[in-house]
Amino acid sequence: MKEAYLYNKLDKDKVRCNLCSHRCVIENKYSGRCSVRKNDGGLLYSLVYDKIISENVDPIEKKPLFHFLPGTMSLSIATPGCNFKCFFCQNWQISQMPCDYDTIEGKAISPEKLVKDAQLYNCESISYTYTEPTVYFELAYDTARLASEKGIKNVFVTNGFMTKECLEMVRPYLDAANIDLKSFSDDFYRKKVDGRLKPVLDNIRLMHEFGIWIEVTTLLIPGLNDSVEELESLAKFLTSVSDRIPWHISAYYPQYKSDIPQTEISSIVRAIDIGKKAGLKYIYGGNIPGSKYENTSCPDCKEMLIERHGFSVINSKIKNNVCAGCGAVIDGVF
Ligand code: SF4
Repeated sequence: MKEAYLYNKLDKDKVRCNLCSHRCVIENKYSGRCSVRKNDGGLLYSLVYDKIISENVDPIEKKPLFHFLPGTMSLSIATPGCNFKCFFCQNWQISQMPCDYDTIEGKAISPEKLVKDAQLYNCESISYTYTEPTVYFELAYDTARLASEKGIKNVFVTNGFMTKECLEMVRPYLDAANIDLKSFSDDFYRKKVDGRLKPVLDNIRLMHEFGIWIEVTTLLIPGLNDSVEELESLAKFLTSVSDRIPWHISAYYPQYKSDIPQTEISSIVRAIDIGKKAGLKYIYGGNIPGSKYENTSCPDCKEMLIERHGFSVINSKIKNNVCAGCGAVIDGVF
């Protein structure tokens, strides 16, 4: 077990974990809400530092990141565990494994080996993804620091519920993030995913201020987070941070404990229109491979600059962050 970063010792062998905004106070011999951080004798330990459950080479488009090194591969890793409990989770077999099955599977792969693997497979980045990187922060942080020394970028695919201390600690090594903005309703966050909205909004703003390249994803769930009013508020918020943040609006499919029918494409199109009206420059429809909503166009001259099919880049006309058609700056890391 690896002693945890970012916690306080309290009286009677209790500890407070300061990694995510739950800030669990944990009694001796108990774990926090994520079930992967345990108090043993007044010291907090990560139970997942040596429990990698997934290690794959993915296109960076799969995160999804469309404006960050497009067309490159990213070594993508995860351990079990999450600090949210989304009843519609798309990766529930691993994210909810510690809570639902009371077990933590996975194997030890050191940060050094992960960085070597990234080099071996010609990955320009390492993505901490599939589950929530905040709850395996010690492994992510140690790996990101080493990767950064070797010129490899680091990406968090996150629910954005970490604390400011956590973000400040990883900031020097974190190049990009895709943040889930699951809804613009605090009630949704509290009742449907066991979180809160405000910390997520604060972190989107903070990551942008820190100069980390961010893209935001919203999984559109029929009847739950897809009202016009809610999407207008969400898009307005993103615009208030920057109208240059790419917004991925993804189609949902029934998973885990949800039997709500899948998202209609017409709902995605309606949300895209709402985003455009709010002034966002880059909006994408996700989980609908082969649609025109996965291409990148110049916000000024409208020329199609990156043509995609699913997670593949078919054609790109962006050079040095500039549109080949009109010379306008295209935001991102190209
Ligand atoms: S990471 Fe979050 S959920 Fe897990 S113990 Fe720490 S504060 Fe609690």
